[in-house]
Amino acid sequence: MLEVAGLTAGYGAVRALDGVDLAVEEGSLTAVLGANGAGKTTLLRTVSGLLRPRAGRIALDGRDLARLPVEEIVRLGVAHVPQSGGVITELTVEENLRLGGLYRRDRRALARRVAQMYELFPPLEPRRSRAAATLSGGERQMLALARALTGAPRLLLVDEPSLGLAPRVVARLMAVLRRLCDEDGRTVLLVEQNARSALSVADRAVVLDLGTVVADEPAGVLAADSRLRHAYLGF
Ligand code: ATP
Repeated sequence: MLEVAGLTAGYGAVRALDGVDLAVEEGSLTAVLGANGAGKTTLLRTVSGLLRPRAGRIALDGRDLARLPVEEIVRLGVAHVPQSGGVITELTVEENLRLGGLYRRDRRALARRVAQMYELFPPLEPRRSRAAATLSGGERQMLALARALTGAPRLLLVDEPSLGLAPRVVARLMAVLRRLCDEDGRTVLLVEQNARSALSVADRAVVLDLGTVVADEPAGVLAADSRLRHAYLGF
C-alpha cells in the first residue's frame, strides 16, 4: 500500500534520512524502531507531507505523494498523530474529535464515527464535555488517536504514543492499534522507542540507524535476534 524508495530528507546540513526503502502492506502494523535521532520522526513527517523529501519516492497505492499538498495527502487517507498527540487543550474532548472529521461532509457519518470512538476508547466518553487540558497523559494519547481515526484514515502514522505513559496504559494503546488493523483493516506505521511493546503487536519491524535501514524483518524474527536487539533496540 505504501512504498518508500530511496528516500532522503533532512534539515539544513543535517541528513536525517539517507536512501530509505520500505514497503507497508495494507492492513498491517509496521513498527519503525531505532535510537534517538535515528530519523523515525522525520520518516513520518516526510510521508505525511510536513517535510519535503530531497530525493526518492513515496507512493500510496502507486500514487506519488512527494509533491502533493498536505491537505491532499490527508484526503487520500493518511493521518498523522505526532509525538505527544497534538490535541488542542482548550477544546473539549468532543470538539477535538469533531475536528478530526473536518473533511467528512456527511454530518451523520461524522456523529456515528465520534460515537464509535467512545466505544473504542471508553475513558473518553464520560469526559466528552471537558477540556482536553484536564485529561491524563494516557487519555490525551487516546484522544489524539481517536481524533485521527474520526477522519477514517486508511494509513495511520503514529509517533511514539507510549512516551511518558504507564506500562498498563501502553499495553492498552498497543492493543487498540492491533485491533485497528485486524478488525478495521487499517494500516498502521508506528514509531516507537519502546521496542518491546511495539514488537509485541507489530507484523513487521524496520530499524533505522543514522537515517538508514539496518533491519527490515517480521517482528517475531527481529524480537528473536539478540544481536540486533542489543545493538539497536537496547533490550
Ligand atoms: P527521536 O526519537 O529523538 O524523535 P528520531 O529517530 O525520531 O529521534 P528524528 O527526530 O527524525 O529522529 O531526527 C533525525 C535527525 O535529524 C537528528 O540528527 C535530529 O537532530 C535532526 N533533526 C530533527 N529535527 C530537526 C530540525 N527541525 N532541525 C534540525 N535538525 C533536526
